[in-house]
Amino acid sequence: MERIEEKLKDIEKEYLELQEGIIEYSNNNLKSADLKKRGSKFGIYEQKGKTMMLRLKAVGGELSIEKFRSLANIMKKEEIPYLHLSTRQNYQLHEVDFEKVKDTIELCNSKEMYFRGGGGNTFRSILVSTYTGVDKRNIFDVMPYARMVENEVFFMDKAFDFGRKLKIGFSNSLDDEFVMAVQDMGFIAKEINGERGFKVYCGGGMGRGSKIGHVLIEFLPEDDLLRAVKALIDLFYDRGDRVNRMQARLRFLVEKMGFEGFKKLYLDYFEKETIKNGKISKIDYEKKVKELKQFEMTEDSEKFKLWQDICTKETKFKDVVSLVLYVKNGDLTAEDIEKLYILMKEINTPTIRATINQNLVIPLVHKSAIPYIYRYLNEKIPEIVSETISIRGQIRACVGAKVCMIGVQDSAAIADAIGYELDQLAKEFPQYRKIIFKEAKNIRISGCPSSCAGVPVAPLGFIGLKKKINDKLVDCMQVYMGGILTESVQSLAFEIPNLILPIDEIPILVKSLFKDYLEVLQVYDMTFSSYMYERRLEEF
Ligand code: SF4
Repeated sequence: MERIEEKLKDIEKEYLELQEGIIEYSNNNLKSADLKKRGSKFGIYEQKGKTMMLRLKAVGGELSIEKFRSLANIMKKEEIPYLHLSTRQNYQLHEVDFEKVKDTIELCNSKEMYFRGGGGNTFRSILVSTYTGVDKRNIFDVMPYARMVENEVFFMDKAFDFGRKLKIGFSNSLDDEFVMAVQDMGFIAKEINGERGFKVYCGGGMGRGSKIGHVLIEFLPEDDLLRAVKALIDLFYDRGDRVNRMQARLRFLVEKMGFEGFKKLYLDYFEKETIKNGKISKIDYEKKVKELKQFEMTEDSEKFKLWQDICTKETKFKDVVSLVLYVKNGDLTAEDIEKLYILMKEINTPTIRATINQNLVIPLVHKSAIPYIYRYLNEKIPEIVSETISIRGQIRACVGAKVCMIGVQDSAAIADAIGYELDQLAKEFPQYRKIIFKEAKNIRISGCPSSCAGVPVAPLGFIGLKKKINDKLVDCMQVYMGGILTESVQSLAFEIPNLILPIDEIPILVKSLFKDYLEVLQVYDMTFSSYMYERRLEEF
């Protein structure tokens, strides 16, 4: 704790500079770009309407229920209208008044929630498989390892002064292998003869020049984990491009050197590195399971059964499930958070996790509590139940131009329109409702080429832009197809040449692709990802 307090004191002057910058900017004495320089490394960015967004890091999106409640309290105190769950498992406080930024930072820090590395050219929030520790297919729980890395890197100043951002992730099973393959560095739990370690990917990423990474190390013993991360931090700090931002992500360095050349250089850094892992505190899930509250309540309605079917997932513990809470557009008010906190207290569950699909997951819930939760949500936050049942809740969209300074199109609104069309399709073909529902997760929409919704790995994706049509600038989307990441086929999404459509044509296109997919299903058994991959090979 002392160590953190000292570091926070170090960082304090940067927060003060940011606060001064906000005042100067309000008085028109500082440019927007200069304000961005001061705030971006903390994930603090200007938003439309002279407000700011503050992005809180949370390893694997996990918060204790007490921290979750603190967010509600801070939001109420600082009059912050809503919180947004990002596609990287972060909690973003939106529309924070300029003059409330510093207080909000201090309040969050006092609850051990930090901003260092929330954005900018830094070591970003660590992605972790949502169901780690509780999953039936768990190789082992990677959360303690990810936390250890975050805790140690927090003190490495080089990690917050790169030429470009660096993103790493941890997966507890092969299910998420390819999510990790598109990180700058991805770790997948691996066990050989009872020895724990990781398969390590490197040089992947999404955005400009998207790439599936290379296998850097087939088996990294767990004891070498921090050494492996530190070696990459030092290498990227020394050799990352600091001049040409467009070529500065790690994947461009790997490309420039060739993978073998890069690997040799990396292993030189790794060999020289002597750092040891910090404390790895294993999580006692068994104890938490025993403490879950059991209920005696039943519920038989069809709507309940549908909801239960969609939002519960078996865990490795008897009579315990994980529960997904679908959150419209990933947005929650302080009141929503407070209500969810009361619910979690009632069922006596200790943590909540934000997912890359901008939803929430309660990892541990006793099965008998499900009818109680359903009734509670229906009464207190009915949108969470209706959003679960609507296909719209499945589509992944970034916040879009309505909120984001560099956004071009309102991706959330386009996702709503697509969701509406797919809900109609499900009414026409009720026998396929479950399939449409499941496969809608494969649609991703980004409001601009930054592609925060992960379009490069999407079977069907859209990126917002404007195009001149008949001398008029029209709101359009570029169509991407065929992203697939399975064991046998790995391909990034393909930008379909000249398939740039006005935004109101997008929902119709999606509906017709899904209709065609349903017809194909009558003859072949295939996933939507495989269908889109085959289709783009055939047509483009
Ligand atoms: S994709 Fe573009 S519009 Fe969407 S959140 Fe990212 S930067 Fe903003």
